[in-house]
Amino acid sequence: MGDSDGADKGDEEMTEIDALNEFLAAKIMLAQAYPAISAALARQIPRPPRDADTMWVCPECTAAISPNDCYCSRCGQKIKWEEEK
Ligand SMILES: [Zn+2]
Repeated sequence: MGDSDGADKGDEEMTEIDALNEFLAAKIMLAQAYPAISAALARQIPRPPRDADTMWVCPECTAAISPNDCYCSRCGQKIKWEEEK
């Protein structure tokens, strides 16, 4: 392997500042991903479908769904159908 660009500074030790920067970068990544994670988790909570006159639609994205669908095929929202008693 010919990896010889730049000056050889020897092994760079990870300083506390570096560690802190990595920690902060990870936290920032998590914070940026959080809305998507939160939304994905929220879709796991079953919600009743919306009745749009002639059909049922997803309560999250309003895509048409059929009573056989446990999940919306567009956004993945879990659908809670009325339990028959
Ligand atoms: Zn949907």
